Amino acid sequence: MKILVTGGAGFIGSHTCLEMLQEGYEITVVDNLCNSKEEALIRVQAITGKPLTFHKVDLLDRQALEQVFASDSFDAVIHFAGLKAPGESVSIPLRYYQNNITGTINLLEVMAHYGVKSLVFSSSCTVYGEAKTVPIREDFPLGAINPYGRTKLMIEQILADLYTSDNSWDIALLRYFNPVGAHPSGRIGEDPQGIPNNLLPYVAQVAVGRLPELHVFGNDYPTPDGTCIRDYVHVVDLALGHLRALEKLQTHPGLVAYNLGTNRGHSVMEVIAAFEKACGHAIPHRVVERRPGDAAVSYADASKANRELGWRSEKSMDDICADMWRWQKNNPYGYS
Ligand code: NAD
Ligand code: UDP
Repeated sequence: MKILVTGGAGFIGSHTCLEMLQEGYEITVVDNLCNSKEEALIRVQAITGKPLTFHKVDLLDRQALEQVFASDSFDAVIHFAGLKAPGESVSIPLRYYQNNITGTINLLEVMAHYGVKSLVFSSSCTVYGEAKTVPIREDFPLGAINPYGRTKLMIEQILADLYTSDNSWDIALLRYFNPVGAHPSGRIGEDPQGIPNNLLPYVAQVAVGRLPELHVFGNDYPTPDGTCIRDYVHVVDLALGHLRALEKLQTHPGLVAYNLGTNRGHSVMEVIAAFEKACGHAIPHRVVERRPGDAAVSYADASKANRELGWRSEKSMDDICADMWRWQKNNPYGYS
């Protein structure tokens, strides 16, 4: 099967390409490299010993995208490409709406034109907004709380409208919880530009000495140790979720949504302790004010993905930290 992967040079995309090559898929990546390096794809090919095709194309460049579809025939598309930082999206909302929404509409129009109607879309648990209870199920009310989250929710709604208008589409909405970790080879991993926004990349950079200390955002939440709890899912498990979703699309399910998470949460303090165990030394940290907008507890009910896709997260927090540490230690400055 030939799969077009948008945003395939990024963190989750590169790990998914690797697993797909290993399972025998043929892959074409389109990515404008605005938040990634081609080196990730070079390493994916080196690790697997299998080639993929790469086009440096921006989804906003409709003509260039048309040319990619004209040059080959694809069975399905996995759509990772997008801007993803909630804080940044508050400062530059129009850039987020243009990139994520217009980019997706361009993609869908070109797919429709070329008769490619199978899509896996990277959604996020952010579409649940402030869920009232945990674990979070797919049928919980939706509602985003920042421009980034609204782009994800709007795209889900656009895809639902598209499906209503033409039910020959098959679309899997994958709502990721907190993707973390790195490939066990230590050769590909997350390479954030600038200071990381997310907990685990920040912890990893403190561990390797690139940043002096971690700020723990609040320890007065209603949780056992007072720090927030999240559902951290290993990126290799997440990548495999995309393969299971592609298989599901072969059965013509229509429009389907799945949580990809682990069914459990870890507190910030538990994450620090697990990383200290992996790297063998203390992670300097200090408790500071809460970060506005943080929910105390969030984790998935991922049983639907287990039932319907045969997918479940296999890797533990210790695996996550060991793999991230291997990547960070071997590549202290990422791909550069
Ligand atoms: P990433 O930034 O590493 O990867 C996204 C890729 O898309 C990058 O390589 C970037 O260069 C590319 N891209 C962005 N805009 C583009 C455009 N207009 N044209 C072509 N390429 C473009 O991010 P990631 O962590 O791998 O996330 C992948 C997807 O998963 C994103 O849609 C993100 O919103 C979603 N997601 C991520 C997380 C997370 O915490 N990492 C959580 C939930 C959902
Ligand atoms: N967090 C923290 N210090 C940091 C980054 C994050 O204490 O430098 C906390 C944050 O308050 C949250 C958890 O770690 O409770 C996970 O944050 P992240 O941004 O990785 O994920 P999200 O909150 O978007 O689920």
